[in-house]
Amino acid sequence: MRFMHIRTRFAPSPTGFIHLGNLRSALYPWAFARHNKGDFILRIEDTDLERSSQEAVDVIIEGMAWLGLDLDEGPIYQMQRIDRYREVVKQMLDSGLAYPCYMSEEELNKLRDQQMASKEKPRYNGLWRPEPGKTLPPVPEGVSPVIRFKNPIGGSVIWNDAVKGQIEISNDQLDDLVIARPDGTPTYNFCVVIDDMDMNITHVIRGDDHVNNTPRQINIMRALGGSPPVYAHLPTVLNDAGEKMSKRNGAMSVRDYQRAGYLPDAILNYLARLGWSHGDAEVFTKEQFVNWFDLESLGRSPAQHNPEKLLWLNHQYIQNSDPVKLAAATKPFAHEMGMDTEAGPDFVQVVSLLKDRANTLIEIAEGAKLFYLPAPNLTADQIKENIAEAVMPVLKDLVEAISTAEPTKEAYAAVFKQILAKYQIKMPALAMPVRYALFATTQTPAIDSVLVVLGKEEAVKRLSKVVQ
Ligand code: GLU
Repeated sequence: MRFMHIRTRFAPSPTGFIHLGNLRSALYPWAFARHNKGDFILRIEDTDLERSSQEAVDVIIEGMAWLGLDLDEGPIYQMQRIDRYREVVKQMLDSGLAYPCYMSEEELNKLRDQQMASKEKPRYNGLWRPEPGKTLPPVPEGVSPVIRFKNPIGGSVIWNDAVKGQIEISNDQLDDLVIARPDGTPTYNFCVVIDDMDMNITHVIRGDDHVNNTPRQINIMRALGGSPPVYAHLPTVLNDAGEKMSKRNGAMSVRDYQRAGYLPDAILNYLARLGWSHGDAEVFTKEQFVNWFDLESLGRSPAQHNPEKLLWLNHQYIQNSDPVKLAAATKPFAHEMGMDTEAGPDFVQVVSLLKDRANTLIEIAEGAKLFYLPAPNLTADQIKENIAEAVMPVLKDLVEAISTAEPTKEAYAAVFKQILAKYQIKMPALAMPVRYALFATTQTPAIDSVLVVLGKEEAVKRLSKVVQ
């Protein structure tokens, strides 16, 4: 075990909506592989042709790339491995591990009704299962059989789940699983087993909605001479109302978060903590996460999605981001809002000014409007309404002082201090009219920093227009 080369996989079914909780099932096997210098494989379980879509595959692949969950192998599509599954079905028939079953749909339904009526668990009764000395019914003409796996009789399947502890399921509870349909197409649980074996998967880390499949998968694997991997079944992610996450109750896809201005590292950090912990660490780097990740610290109870915590984390990441990188990430949002970030102050400076108060890239871009939208064209009435007559001489003095000051935050701060002292007024009495004159709003970051970013020339131009 100690020298095992770890191989994990994320095996999504590309059906329907891919929410954040789904991608958590990619994050943990990825982190486990990276932590152990193993391999991480993406396998697309697309054999349900009606429900699978390329759109869902794209969302998964893009989402993983955006979060930086790099692959060693894949994407491997199950639909491209159908010949392999058919080959194994044939081998199993030849070696007696599986058998054809001709029971029709109607017969199966009848059997189920009878079992339900006598309060038994509905299960296939083994009618077509060959046994020594048993005579099978005559094969009906023109009927294509399903192929069933000969599940062991008696005994139980036991595995030590890395999250849930030891689980034991009696074989009496498992009937003979259909591994191929009448048209020869292999079934879900069967493909999973063949893939996990062929891909030498050592650790299956997946949602606990698959716990019920596990004993069947283990039985097939053992029958084929394989040894089962370690299983770690992750508790579900619930939404903030404690319900199962779904599009209907407002779950967002990774793309939605990208569009809402979240940083991928913040999402990764957030997802990491949804069901795993390392002491009381809340904010950590991707490298730390990989270094710390182990299966022992996975949570045993359902994790609950907490949008406020995610927003808080995003804020932490924005605040601590390198301004150049943050500016590059914010630019597309600013462009989408119609700003020309080349025409105006240096965008990196603008972003540096705004980042400490922003929760999302959208909020930064919104704030940047101050510097890239055209200068306000204030009417006489607007000026009268927003700037007290008595402040005009003060503003006039200020404009003059600013024109000759060094273009630094410190120098502008000194100018304000000096003017405030001269007129015996408080900062807001001056800063608010200045803000209004510059931008037609009083909501801006600290005025001395704003002047630096806007640029002296532009600031003086805008202020002069008002004081004349
Ligand atoms: N395709 C399954 C799903 O999306 C996962 C199967 C597995 O991990 O074994 O739920």
